[in-house]
Amino acid sequence: MTKQTITVIPGDGIGPDIIDATLQVLDKAGCNFDYEFADAGLAALEKHGELVPEETISLIEKNKITLKGPLTTPVGEGFTSINVTLRKQFKLYANLRPVLSFKGTKARYENIDILTVRENTQGMYSGAGQTVSEDGAKAEAMSIVTREGAEKILTFAYETARKEGRKKVTAVHKANILKSTSGLFLKVAREVAQRYPEIESTEMIVDNCCMQLVMNPEQFDVIVTTNLFGDILSDLCAGLVGGLGMAPGANIGEDCAIFEAVHGSAPDIAGKNLANPTSVILAAIQMLEYLEMTDKAEKIRNALTEVIASGDRTTRDLGGTHGTTDFTEALLERL
Ligand code: NAD
Repeated sequence: MTKQTITVIPGDGIGPDIIDATLQVLDKAGCNFDYEFADAGLAALEKHGELVPEETISLIEKNKITLKGPLTTPVGEGFTSINVTLRKQFKLYANLRPVLSFKGTKARYENIDILTVRENTQGMYSGAGQTVSEDGAKAEAMSIVTREGAEKILTFAYETARKEGRKKVTAVHKANILKSTSGLFLKVAREVAQRYPEIESTEMIVDNCCMQLVMNPEQFDVIVTTNLFGDILSDLCAGLVGGLGMAPGANIGEDCAIFEAVHGSAPDIAGKNLANPTSVILAAIQMLEYLEMTDKAEKIRNALTEVIASGDRTTRDLGGTHGTTDFTEALLERL
């Protein structure tokens, strides 16, 4: 069998440390990948004078599978978000953000298993038609929803639910106010739902969904929604299971997929050996599932579950007193 090559972008801030921890875990679990490293973000700007160099784009395209650390987008004029750029360039239309309760975290809930499927390239993040008047007193942004885009993400959500044996899909919208965009999304959601009679389909207005997620999160299984709502709701979901350190994300397109942590480069703790590598390790587990290496995915998830539940050398955000390297060591010992 040919060896799978993965493009690895270590990223900025805590990125290189948590990516290094994750590669050690993948190797120890016997995944037998080859890695090709690429720069993006501040690291790339300093070395190559651009945030996403051409070599990086080529490597992502060539290897199809990328594991990415968080990137810092410099604040200020002229820099568009690198993540948005990559999602558009590779048409990564689906963003899968699962959250799962782990025993041993300081989370408020114990039985959460929610998958947010976020449309990743349209909606309020289309970047289209943004104008600001000369005196800066007026700003406009355009939200774009197409039937094709909505159908693609909704079908993806139901197919994923079917594959993972999930029972319920909730389409989240604001069609009562945003009649054109959210209205179209909801209309298509109702049509797609009919094709999956074995899955329970519900719909919920986004503001109510926020309250329901806090009051009674166990009612949710798969949430499918447009870009901006998905961005916000998935962070809310991360909060239900112990915060951003526990939340991975997969960006899936027709040809390429990029796996990453939901959190950013955490400049406040960068270089201090304090970062919790769990989110990127969970992203790597998503990558293994995508590659249908489910036994390896299970092996790593079990080891992670054990380390977090036992509190053996866990990081501060998990209530422990240890750093990235000790946490990784505890995980490697169990593998
Ligand atoms: P952040 O997610 O980097 O940090 C928020 C808080 O969570 C900080 O207190 C940080 O210390 C903590 N934190 C984050 N990850 C952690 C981990 N693994 N272990 C322990 N604690 C952790 O958000 P921010 O400070 O708003 O953003 C910093 C930079 O990251 C910005 O430049 C932003 O653009 C970028 N960013 C990148 C991505 C990405 O590449 N996917 C996502 C979000 C933000």
